[in-house]
Amino acid sequence: MTDFPPPSDHNGPHGDVRGCIDLHMHSTCSDGERPPEFLVEWAASLGLKAIALTDHDTTKGLQRAIARGNELGVEVIPGVEISVKLSGGTFHLLAYYYDLNDAGFEGRLREIAEKRETRNRAICASLASHGMPIDYEEVLAQAGEAVVGRPHIAAVMERKGYVASRQEAFDKWIANDGPCYFEKDTFGPEEALKFVREHKAVPVIAHPIWLDRGGLDKTEEYLKQLKEWGLLGLEAIYPDHDAVWTEGLQEVAQRLGLIVTGGSDYHGGKTKPHTTLGHGEGGGFRVPPGVLSELQRVRNEVQASA
Ligand code: AMP
Ligand code: FE
Ligand code: FE
Ligand code: ZN
Repeated sequence: MTDFPPPSDHNGPHGDVRGCIDLHMHSTCSDGERPPEFLVEWAASLGLKAIALTDHDTTKGLQRAIARGNELGVEVIPGVEISVKLSGGTFHLLAYYYDLNDAGFEGRLREIAEKRETRNRAICASLASHGMPIDYEEVLAQAGEAVVGRPHIAAVMERKGYVASRQEAFDKWIANDGPCYFEKDTFGPEEALKFVREHKAVPVIAHPIWLDRGGLDKTEEYLKQLKEWGLLGLEAIYPDHDAVWTEGLQEVAQRLGLIVTGGSDYHGGKTKPHTTLGHGEGGGFRVPPGVLSELQRVRNEVQASA
């Protein structure tokens, strides 16, 4: 546990999160900066009771996290954050408690990842046609073991001097409304929810504020539709949600009969400088352990239904 905990990952005053949980975080298996084991070690040192590793579109890090969790007494819950295609963008669907021995689950995610590669190559071809040639091998090298995506393309663009910063790469070229953007061919909402439910996992909408419906009322309308397709929960407790959203979404969850979950969405100090495992951003954020009991209750129901 050298180099631990990372000072740049600790910002601001933090409350006590002992006994609490964190159900949303990323490792080097997707776009996080730290390996799965590191996240578990950090959780243990904070006194977190349970965490879920929720890498983008892959379950790859789970076994490693669980093994470390067993050594340190941290419960590691299987999670994954699935990218879902929506007209004009994507939203993120968390799936919890899939069966680690269900090869079909990861297999389907792999299929989707292959389609993603087709799209990443299209983005690179478009950048080349705008005078910014990129060797796809460089993008792959940049990603390492991660699921390849625009952040890696942005990093290569910065290194080659096409842009001054990764953010500029997005702002000028590859943001959702940028000239070189291509949509990912991935799950649609109904298909994603069906997939998760078929595999007896618990689908939860990640950071509902980023559904970008424009306000709580519109968000509730859409969540109602998603519930009809099999949604079981929403991530009301999230660093980007202010008090109005956090409380509003809890009321929405109650009205729609959905459970509430929460997590920091920790990626690392470089990606999200102000987010800290278990604490989110700033001092007030914590996810109480009761959230886990509810998640487990729903998991039991899902798994009991034939
Ligand atoms: P991809 O999965 O390839 O579509 O890349 C999505 C990731 O790109 C997101 O998780 C963000 O990390 C990053 N991203 C998307 N849009 C922006 C933006 N406008 N500015 C900065 N980063 C962005
Ligand atoms: Fe991410
Ligand atoms: Fe997300
Ligand atoms: Zn996330």
